Amino acid sequence: MTTIHRIINFSAGPAVMPVPVLEQIQRDMLALPAVGMSILEVSHRSKVFESILAKAEADVRALARVPANYKVLFLQGGASLQFSMVPMNLLGAGQAADYIDTGSWADKAVKEARKVGAVNIVATSKGENYSRIPAQSELRLTPGAAYVHMTANNTIEGTEFKDVPQVGDVPLVSDTSSDMFSRPIDVERHGLIYAGAQKNMGPAGVTLVIVREDLLLRSAEKKSTLPTMLNYAVHAENGSLYNTPPSFAVYALGLVIQWLLNQGGLEAVAAVNQRKAGKLYTEIDRTGFYRGTANRESRSLMNVTFRLASEELEKTFVKESTAAGLDGLKGHRAVGGMRASIYNAFPEEGVEALVSFMRDFEQKYG
Ligand SMILES: *Cc1c(COP(=O)(O)O)cnc(C)c1O
Repeated sequence: MTTIHRIINFSAGPAVMPVPVLEQIQRDMLALPAVGMSILEVSHRSKVFESILAKAEADVRALARVPANYKVLFLQGGASLQFSMVPMNLLGAGQAADYIDTGSWADKAVKEARKVGAVNIVATSKGENYSRIPAQSELRLTPGAAYVHMTANNTIEGTEFKDVPQVGDVPLVSDTSSDMFSRPIDVERHGLIYAGAQKNMGPAGVTLVIVREDLLLRSAEKKSTLPTMLNYAVHAENGSLYNTPPSFAVYALGLVIQWLLNQGGLEAVAAVNQRKAGKLYTEIDRTGFYRGTANRESRSLMNVTFRLASEELEKTFVKESTAAGLDGLKGHRAVGGMRASIYNAFPEEGVEALVSFMRDFEQKYG
């Protein structure tokens, strides 16, 4: 047997997958048990795929305790297509939508929504380099808005909402691409939740959408004008099988959801994530050699962003950490510095390896 060497992968996305999931994919790649074909080769209209899809949906529902009046959809186009689909489906003629601007992805969502209709920015931390999440008291919500859009975790800046904002009767739409299933989520407080799978839930290619049924009526009214593939109601009525779904990605996502259930569910997963991020932030705060870029109260448990005294030292850090087998720590080009993405599947030993590298690096250059 050859030994397989896996590096410590801090990639922001596509990101590290749970090893048991990769092993199962590998085992099933020539033939799914009792099927005689791989997932890449079965028809999406077959009983085999139908049951894989049904199981993935049932497990998502169990994991996040999704209420019965919500549909679970498996779509394509990434979270970025949701930036357009959300306003195209939910924004009525003459209506406005509220957006909380907390980062680069939120800003992209705003730009796409503006192509569809009126947008109000109800709070922004742009002037502070998106280093914090605005408080509830800062939200200037519009009475009668079509929806309020938020970005639960800001992947690039390393901040996250600690509480779901209060938005009254207006449906809350949340982009959870980088924190979905990293902590319990109160689905009932949302109208629509969307997330690309490739950060916390599986491979690229599938986007999870959880939408309250009453909002689908807005989509149903737009059937004659909205392109069919962009209409939530069409996907819901067809059980995500209007056309060929990303069958491999749905299958792999299903395995990740099973793995999360086996970890003990979202409370258990959140406890591990708290511990992992806590170790890293403790090291960042220890001496002042490292500087966390997010305000403490807004710090993300998924994307830990920090800087060093100079860009030169940051370059050295990236170079030496990469050489030490710690891959993907260079921050997003929009903010610079370092970013350690430590999603659900990222192993705790990887965090410990980074902490130990950071200590050695400080000894050497501090
Ligand atoms: C990665 C990311 C996106 C974009 O996702 P795609 O699937 O590449 O379109 C959107 N929002 C957030 C919060 C992200 O982290």
